[in-house]
Amino acid sequence: MNIDDARHLQALIRTIPDFPSPGIQFRDVMPLLADAHGFARALEALAEDIAPHSIDMVAAIEARGFLLGGAIAQRLGCGLLPVRKPGKLPGPNHGIDYALEYGSDRLEMQVGSVKPGARVLVIDDLIATGGTALACGELIARAGGHVAGFRFLIDLPDLGGAARLAARGWDARSLLRY
Ligand code: AMP
Repeated sequence: MNIDDARHLQALIRTIPDFPSPGIQFRDVMPLLADAHGFARALEALAEDIAPHSIDMVAAIEARGFLLGGAIAQRLGCGLLPVRKPGKLPGPNHGIDYALEYGSDRLEMQVGSVKPGARVLVIDDLIATGGTALACGELIARAGGHVAGFRFLIDLPDLGGAARLAARGWDARSLLRY
């Protein structure tokens, strides 16, 4: 993606101070999704370095990952694996609990949704501490899939998430950094 495209996308992302809690600079991607050209350019850029036939499945993390993941799966000619919050999928499910700054959370996917050795690309809107993405990768690995990489619209590098994925040996790339 060239610098003009990056500026164009960045201009479509709204920053909301102190949402959802004090001290958080919330990066709101909804205006980008609402802009037909910006949305198309973002999808193209997220998929552009993926070699043809190198991915078997796209995993999308609930909820904003869904908005990107389905469209990227279609672009890459593969199916979608929704990775969901607890209690949403009829089971049996694989699940993983992971720590948040305060408390914990859980991700689930259906047993049998990943074929053994399937190469899975993980999509979400943003990586911060990387806890969510790491949990998603571990879940895919435990289910017998091969984590082929991660793509995000936004990275907050100061929070170290992309570095944590790299330390785990996983390729993580983002279009924009804040
Ligand atoms: P983390 O597990 O810390 O990498 O957090 C990533 C998840 O939380 C992603 O699904 C994001 O959508 C959401 N998130 C974390 N921080 C922000 C932020 N500053 N703005 C918008 N979404 C965020």
